[in-house]
Amino acid sequence: NATIGILGGGQLGRMTALAAARLGYRCHILAPEAESPAGDVAAALTRADYRDEEALLAFAKSVDVVTLEFENVAVEALEFLAAHVPVRPGANVLRITQDRMLEKGFVAEQGVPVTPFFAIENEAELARALKETGGRGILKTRRMGYDGRGQRLIAAPSDAASAFAALGKAPGGLILEQIVPFVCELSVVTARGLDGQMQSYVPVQNEHAHHILKRTLAPAPQAPEVLDEARSLAERVVEALDVVGLLAVEMFLDAEGRLLVNELAPRPHNSGHWTMDACTVSQFEQLVRAITGLPLGDPVRHADASMENLLGDEADIDRLLPLLGLPGTFVHLYGKSEPKPGRKMGHVNRLLRPYPPGFAPSS
Ligand code: ATP
Ligand code: MG
Ligand code: MG
Repeated sequence: NATIGILGGGQLGRMTALAAARLGYRCHILAPEAESPAGDVAAALTRADYRDEEALLAFAKSVDVVTLEFENVAVEALEFLAAHVPVRPGANVLRITQDRMLEKGFVAEQGVPVTPFFAIENEAELARALKETGGRGILKTRRMGYDGRGQRLIAAPSDAASAFAALGKAPGGLILEQIVPFVCELSVVTARGLDGQMQSYVPVQNEHAHHILKRTLAPAPQAPEVLDEARSLAERVVEALDVVGLLAVEMFLDAEGRLLVNELAPRPHNSGHWTMDACTVSQFEQLVRAITGLPLGDPVRHADASMENLLGDEADIDRLLPLLGLPGTFVHLYGKSEPKPGRKMGHVNRLLRPYPPGFAPSS
């Protein structure tokens, strides 16, 4: 039976492995961490650093295709693996999406609007860029940031020095982004198969608290033209990047109705977890289908849905007991032992306004 190799041991790998198992595939996880939500449910686990070529080679030989659930794997590791086994999405997708400068540059080159941005290598460049952004902005590390880590708000030029001091030593450099006064945040998860066929889930609306995703609403309660535009921007980027697998595209919607791309993720995305219970084919199954060459599933939903992340101690089972009896409510836990504040421990999907048999309109 075919084996899927997954780089990364987090909850995204866990849910991918569960979806893969349902289709009869085995999963082999490669991850450096001791605690591994994905390793707990996979058929095989290698605990190793991504720079360990001996481990990479043995991993490559044990699997039929490699994917990832974590985009901060060194591009060199993917290139090494790709010499032995198909890697989907490919190293070039990672190279671009793991660096905010390359990512925004690439998206803009496709004629897709992005948050205005400036490369920052020193304080003088930061001062110059702040003149263009009205003295305010968000300073971010180009690489490695997630859940708002590696970001500093510059509310006035006087904040610049301390923001630069906090982030300036980050490997890979910095980017200053203009602050987008957005009305809401949207995202689109698009799958693309080996044959180039694409399928997108309906655009969703995301609410963050303390820079961490708290809640997703599917579909986003915006005008149909906005949703169509979001989907078409996402598909343009997916095609241009030549993704095989999934790409999530995060966007801001501003007061003028314009969509600006914030960032990309070449993997399952937290804002796609609702698909596990509201769609016939979840984003995780869709990823498995895309990378194994199976036909993609129809991303149709049988209900509108919301997804709420369980952060830190919100995943305490005693607190969740009342939810377990509610119809249309689905509790997902990732099996993590230490509920640190802000840590993603699980999520709850709720079906809203279920559709009658025959399912929802296809958008
Ligand atoms: P993720 O967990 O989504 O990977 P991240 O650490 O990569 O997060 P971003 O998505 O860039 O960071 O930023 C996190 C959140 O901070 C955004 O979803 C948005 O709410 C806010 N934010 C980031 N950049 C901007 C911006 N330029 N203008 C306004 N808000 C922003
Ligand atoms: Mg990110
Ligand atoms: Mg983000």
